[in-house]
Amino acid sequence: MRLDRRLVDVGLLADLGAEYAPRMGAKPSSDRTRVRREPQRGAYDRETIDAILDEALVCHLGFVQDRQPFVIPTLFARIGDEVFVHGSSASRMLRTLDGGVDACLTVTLVDGIVLARSIFNHSINYRSVVVLGRATAVADPDEKQHALEAFSNRLLPGRWDDARQPTPTELKATSILRMTLDEASAKLRTGPPKDDEADYDWPVWAGVVPLSLAVGAPEPDRRLLAGVTPPVWTPTRDRR
Ligand SMILES: Cc1cc2nc3c(=O)[nH]c(=O)nc-3n(C[C@H](O)[C@H](O)[C@H](O)COP(=O)(O)OP(=O)(O)OC[C@H]3O[C@@H](n4cnc5c(N)ncnc54)[C@H](O)[C@@H]3O)c2cc1C
Repeated sequence: MRLDRRLVDVGLLADLGAEYAPRMGAKPSSDRTRVRREPQRGAYDRETIDAILDEALVCHLGFVQDRQPFVIPTLFARIGDEVFVHGSSASRMLRTLDGGVDACLTVTLVDGIVLARSIFNHSINYRSVVVLGRATAVADPDEKQHALEAFSNRLLPGRWDDARQPTPTELKATSILRMTLDEASAKLRTGPPKDDEADYDWPVWAGVVPLSLAVGAPEPDRRLLAGVTPPVWTPTRDRR
């Protein structure tokens, strides 16, 4: 089958098994979130952005402290129109961000290695989100609990109800910051390699090698109480 390049470019690959397609027509919420490089891969609709955020476990938070940029990997959770990060109240990252500095939160899902006929056209299939803005601390204990519930249920659905919940002291030792999704963009590359016409005769394998994050067999803790069974992972718990 000969692929229509325009369909590949905009990610409209439903018939090729793509999970979802960006909703075309949504506009960037600000000029600085507009994808300029390969703009046809940009998406700004919340459905696309939320789906990427909700599939990823880890984000990278970028900020500058004393003129030194840091990009720190950390867990996160989305609740509605906001993303939350958490950590020790002593965390440099959380204390700096709570000081009202500009921040950039990035999430990346890697879907495949794209092997082209030419080195130049090698690529990667991905879905990513960039959120720009400032973080603010969550002070209300009920809101903190709610964010922690979202964190634990992301690691394993239902975990909040099963595990011991935080004490007031533990809650106090935990900082939680929120960032709104007011300025967010997604970028997606899907589909096969795009070689130069002259290279299609080059005798090397070309195509996509899919990559995904798989759930392995649970490894019980050595102090696990007798008779406690491991969680059952359903396909929806497998993060792709
Ligand atoms: C796994 C992975 C591997 C990549 N590998 C490469 C590579 O090897 N070389 C390369 O040049 N690029 C690569 N990219 C694309 C890269 O993320 C940038 O989009 C690209 O380099 C253009 O950067 P720029 O600053 O010129 O973007 P611009 O288009 O100028 O960025 C303008 C705005 O668009 C938004 N934006 C830009 N990139 C993204 C993104 N990825 N996701 C969501 N929003 C975005 C941001 O809001 C940004 O402020 C890769 C992306 C991913 C996810």
